Amino acid sequence: MQTTDTHEPAPRPVIEKRSPVTGELLGTFPITTPEEVDAAVRRAREAFPTWRDTGLDDRLRMLARIKDVVRTHGEEYARRISEDTGKPLVDSLLTELMSIPLFIDHYRRTAKKTLGRHRVPTPILFPGKASYVEHFPLGVVGVISPWNFPFQLSMVPVLSALIAGNTVVLKPSEVTPITGEIVDEIFRRIGLPRGVVEVIQGDGSTGAALTRAAVDKIFFTGSVATGRKVMAEAAKRPIPVELELGGKDAMIVCADANLVRAARAAAWGGLVNCGQMCTSVERIFVVDAVHDRFVAMLEKEVRAMRVGGPDEHADMGPLTFPPQLATVERHVEAARADGARIVTGGARLDRPGQFYAPTLLVDVTPQMEIYREETFGPVLPVVRVADEDEAIRLANDHQYGLNGSVWTEDVDRGLALASRLECGQVMVNDLVAIVGNPALPFGGVKNSGFGRYHGPEGLLSFTHQKAIMVDRGWLDFEPFWFPYAGKYDAMSQVFHGLLGGNLPKALYAMTKLRSLTKR
Ligand code: NDP
Repeated sequence: MQTTDTHEPAPRPVIEKRSPVTGELLGTFPITTPEEVDAAVRRAREAFPTWRDTGLDDRLRMLARIKDVVRTHGEEYARRISEDTGKPLVDSLLTELMSIPLFIDHYRRTAKKTLGRHRVPTPILFPGKASYVEHFPLGVVGVISPWNFPFQLSMVPVLSALIAGNTVVLKPSEVTPITGEIVDEIFRRIGLPRGVVEVIQGDGSTGAALTRAAVDKIFFTGSVATGRKVMAEAAKRPIPVELELGGKDAMIVCADANLVRAARAAAWGGLVNCGQMCTSVERIFVVDAVHDRFVAMLEKEVRAMRVGGPDEHADMGPLTFPPQLATVERHVEAARADGARIVTGGARLDRPGQFYAPTLLVDVTPQMEIYREETFGPVLPVVRVADEDEAIRLANDHQYGLNGSVWTEDVDRGLALASRLECGQVMVNDLVAIVGNPALPFGGVKNSGFGRYHGPEGLLSFTHQKAIMVDRGWLDFEPFWFPYAGKYDAMSQVFHGLLGGNLPKALYAMTKLRSLTKR
């Protein structure tokens, strides 16, 4: 009996991108299948030897074309990033686009020194030899990026890997595919050879496929839960991973702080990008002596916030990721039930889109979910502390350790407190800006992840180190090679001479070894 197959091929799965401001459908984006992920990795692998051998100067010159593209199309990109995320246009320009030319300029000045071969000391035990360290690229790097700063957090790791000589496969977040498209466009516009950067749009399944594909490293930015999965997958091969995860940044307001500046900073540091920032101020410790004054000032700042879509000249937009609204609501409601007081905000806004009111909470305690978990929303939880010691103790007693800030008129004391915080970055009398300085390493401790981007580490982490030692032919013998017969006494003198700090004795003993070494 003959059968006819009446099944149509399954429709290709797509991402449906909706506006965070209005909820309307903005477009659909095909999801890259696991087979296509493997093909992208193969293209990146094929492109690798040529890109590696292009040489650092030429690589940097080609990548510097991005500056022109960003300058020419910056306003358009800012509009599209804001459409994708809902963030104000000012944020798209400042926190997404502007950082990239600065980043490229920094590495044009410093990459040669960082990646070039450099000489290191050689112990006197090895006379006539010189030692060097150099670096070579890993191969194909998989970059998986989140939706909160979808441009910057894609571009920075991709560029770092490229500068170091790797080719890259980037998986942007399904939540922000429009920005993924911009990143793809930029690399096409600068005319990189095929396969040097492959952008694969898709969802979690695409990210998972990338972690299983034949890449040599995964650079992951996102949540702790997904970071664990990425690491577990990488452990099977094993390949290195770098995890840039969440945060619950502490802001410590001392009694002698400039309270006006600190209150304005708290509002910006906690509400910029609608609080969807790994470096958001998520715990504000205020010493008892100035607590009430500080809260009154902060309340004024929060109430003055203008909320709306990017074309409404707002300070703050909607949440980008729809489920994030539920997390914010849950944290605030639970905090209220557990005894926190909502000074202002504390509810969704009555309008379409994913808007939540800028919210100030006081009487927050370490037992509350809003204190223990990352909220990633427009909420400022204030914790009253007796003094700075209590603030430091509480700040450190936490699962996260990404950033922190200390506010005091006494900068030396501020630096001393900064040194006591267990986290990757600390600012004194400022916040967030630290991530904008590409010379400073950036990354977390504890559940905030490990590894550093920016700074020399940000390039070196995309390389293997190679140690090289050269014998320059100064000696006509090798004191430690065979034969060993009769060498023990002289060796013992070398041993005691070196360990006892008597170098002449050690050197004299080595000349004795010479006659014993010659066959
Ligand atoms: P997620 O962990 O949900 O997603 C991050 C990326 O991983 C996305 O591209 C996602 O794809 C992808 N992904 C999902 N499932 C898998 C999987 N099984 N294997 C591989 N990749 C997968 O994080 P968010 O996008 O929600 O980002 C917010 C988090 O990122 C917050 O915790 C924030 O603090 C943190 N973050 C950390 C920063 C840092 O520098 N330390 C900076 C910025 C954010 P898809 O979205 O398509 O599902």
